[in-house]
Amino acid sequence: MRYRTGIGYDIHRLVEGRKLFLGGIEIPYIKGLLGHSDGDVLLHALCDALLGALALGDIGEHFPDTDPQYRGADSAGLLKTVKGLVDKSGYRISNLDVIIIAQEPKLISFKPHMKEKICGILGVDQGVLNIKAKTNEGLDAVGRLEAIACWVSAALIAGE
Ligand code: MG
Repeated sequence: MRYRTGIGYDIHRLVEGRKLFLGGIEIPYIKGLLGHSDGDVLLHALCDALLGALALGDIGEHFPDTDPQYRGADSAGLLKTVKGLVDKSGYRISNLDVIIIAQEPKLISFKPHMKEKICGILGVDQGVLNIKAKTNEGLDAVGRLEAIACWVSAALIAGE
């Protein structure tokens, strides 16, 4: 196979008393994402998209939330581990497209920093990654400020 593609999805609850980590950076906001790890919904969806492209299951199988070693885990470390699996597969990342769905906070000004951080973790050119941020038009849990969700599509291409 010359190309492989995968999709990833994740959603985490927004709660008071937690810092908000998204795309590997801390974003100032009154709430943060609940999770066994740092709750970085974007990096989790990205891990799942890459694991999907490799046909290697999902993030819960690789980093079980019942395992104390992942309590408070920095999701950048999880993504690095998944990138190691990509490297071993003989494929490389062709492109990544991200949709963050957050009613608040406004994310547009943080996108360049997220891009820099994620591309740094993955060791890829910034032209490989696109980040889109949108609200949920006030609808459902995301619209009620109860959660942030994220979708990622990943494409891998064979060869170094
Ligand atoms: Mg998650």
